[in-house]
Amino acid sequence: MKKYLRLILEVLLGICLVATATLAYMNYSAKKHLADEVAELTEQLDEAKSALEKSSEEAPPAEEHAAEAGTTNSQELDALKAAFTNGVVLQDMETLYKAQKTLTAERQVGLASLRLLTKGAQDESTISAFQKALEMAEWSNRLQTVCAAQNALAAAGQKVKVLSDCKRSGDKEEPAADKEKAKDEHTKKDDKAHDVHWGYEGDNGPEHWGDNFPVCGKGKKQSPLNIVGPFEKSKETLTVDYKEGPLKMLNNGHTIQVNVEPGSTLTIGKETFDLLQFHFHRPSEEQVEGKNAAMVAHFVHKSKEGKLAVIGVLLNEGKDSAAIKTLWANLPPKELEEFLPPKVMFNPASMLPKELGFYNYEGSLTTPPCTEGVQFYILKTPMDVSKQQLAKFPFKLNARPVQSLNGRKINAGG
Ligand SMILES: [Zn+2]
Repeated sequence: MKKYLRLILEVLLGICLVATATLAYMNYSAKKHLADEVAELTEQLDEAKSALEKSSEEAPPAEEHAAEAGTTNSQELDALKAAFTNGVVLQDMETLYKAQKTLTAERQVGLASLRLLTKGAQDESTISAFQKALEMAEWSNRLQTVCAAQNALAAAGQKVKVLSDCKRSGDKEEPAADKEKAKDEHTKKDDKAHDVHWGYEGDNGPEHWGDNFPVCGKGKKQSPLNIVGPFEKSKETLTVDYKEGPLKMLNNGHTIQVNVEPGSTLTIGKETFDLLQFHFHRPSEEQVEGKNAAMVAHFVHKSKEGKLAVIGVLLNEGKDSAAIKTLWANLPPKELEEFLPPKVMFNPASMLPKELGFYNYEGSLTTPPCTEGVQFYILKTPMDVSKQQLAKFPFKLNARPVQSLNGRKINAGG
């Protein structure tokens, strides 16, 4: 929890710096006043930060335990909020930003955080604005910070939809996540604002995703793509080191996902990514020269810095796949519940072709919130899946249509 608060402080410090930089080029009558406020705020934040660090050093380890943690955390949160009771800062920031036609997602997050900390975390609309701003931001390298912010709010007892990527990385906090889930069940009826449905057809279909997830509609580097030449030559090579581990299956309501234990890696140049999970789309989301494959498997990797890299394996209708046979024999009986069939081991490498030649482009998550900054490596060599196996996949259609290239280059390598 303390760690999260410190991260939030760091984000806010960053926001203050952005605001100060904005002043440098904006002709705004109250800029002197605001500059002073921001400087003061930065100072207060610094003080709060060092106080927080000090308190966490002094805190006896026992305090980390459940019974006392609640009060300690809320006291810290109160101390933080106290640093923002000066509403003038928020007011000035709002006026300053009002003068701009469009606000970057980052500034919206900044503004929302300020509102949150000024008006307190009890205000529903403030929380939801903050949450919305977080969803809109392009956080390719800041996922950790977003997770920290969301987890901190959740831990402070707020109804916050924590991104699934955050849940996944918080392995050690399963009890807390369970508690959160139980609470979600409890509050589901009056929690519509946080429970945004999306799907692949009708009113929830991909053409409407942008209504609730602006990056899906307005992003300029979206996935999937139709892969057609001319290609630029890529010097990168993919080195895959996947390990066998216990099979963990999840039907998340949009696809079948296989969660992977830590230890399986992808190395591109000097960067190493951990394989988090792989999942399926039917038909393939990517096209090659205008044609979809029967399915695609997406292997989602994340680096220590939070960068995402996806390997796509196209699956053509053909022979039975031994790997998919194992997976489909262990489909989860229930939605949204991770299923661990006893004693079934699986090596994700069994899904990959021998040749790792690829088409590479910069894109986005292909599902809301469509976050950009994701590197895609679609393998040139497809694998097989039989007609019977295709029919057994529980989702008839779960593929986002191809998106505009918008001047991006597609690289070919390997
Ligand atoms: Zn996918």
